[in-house]
Amino acid sequence: MLEECRVCPRRCGVNRLAGESGKCHVTTQTIVSSYSPHFGEEAPLVGRHGSGTIFFTYCNLRCVFCQNYTISQLGEGSAVDREELARMMLSLQAKGCHNINLVSPTHVVPHILDALELAVDMGLHLPLVYNSGGYDSTETLELLDGIIDIYMPDAKYSDEKTAEQLSGIKDYPEVNRAAVKEMHRQVGDLQIDEQGIAQRGLLVRHLVLPNRLAGTEEVVRFLAQEVSPNTYLNVMAQYHPCHKAFDIPQLSHPLTRHEFNEAVDLAHQQGLYRLDSPHFPLPLRFILR
Ligand code: SF4
Repeated sequence: MLEECRVCPRRCGVNRLAGESGKCHVTTQTIVSSYSPHFGEEAPLVGRHGSGTIFFTYCNLRCVFCQNYTISQLGEGSAVDREELARMMLSLQAKGCHNINLVSPTHVVPHILDALELAVDMGLHLPLVYNSGGYDSTETLELLDGIIDIYMPDAKYSDEKTAEQLSGIKDYPEVNRAAVKEMHRQVGDLQIDEQGIAQRGLLVRHLVLPNRLAGTEEVVRFLAQEVSPNTYLNVMAQYHPCHKAFDIPQLSHPLTRHEFNEAVDLAHQQGLYRLDSPHFPLPLRFILR
């Protein structure tokens, strides 16, 4: 797959084994920006000891509002080999993390699998979380069947024009829907144990954008009617303009409480009841807008 790269749906066709790079900039060498126990993820991932996040550098998306653009688009991070990556996983396990949370894994799936082989031999046994922007090919996801325990994709948009304008990919809605269905086929609805820790299943993130740009109504309809009414969904309120979002008038202000509440209502209207802490966390000066 790396020889004529089709690891992700961009299908750049470059030979990454020969040092060529496509839209994601990564060849055969994995680049990691940081790894640590993380307490800001969804409650079923965090538990008492944190989610063991590994942030991979670069991304196959180009979101104009990316909060991590220095990592995802400017390449902040250091190259690591398979052994170092395996040791990162083991060190997170040794710290008591409840899972290994692979953040932006799409463009480095082969690299992750390579390191996992070693990590499992060395004793890794935690659930693996595939935490992606949701632009994943079903062909690659099929390779992960039986390996990934928890899928946590974004469902960013339901409109092609918006996807093209804001992330540079017109077919995001179609590809995303197929990916989410494949993920659900593999792992089903999110299963949480008696300690409140996720063990297996699908958890979807939807960042509400100002001016209904995220197409929430169609996203929640799709999840409820074509995936499962038991879908665990994090309706995210934390949008604030950064990176190139200031250049787009519709995105140049934070989300309002009204916009967020409308998105939560839409999810409820579709019968989605497993919403992750649906609250609006912004400071008072924003809430009063
Ligand atoms: S993984 Fe990278 S090189 Fe391969 S198709 Fe996707 S963006 Fe292109």
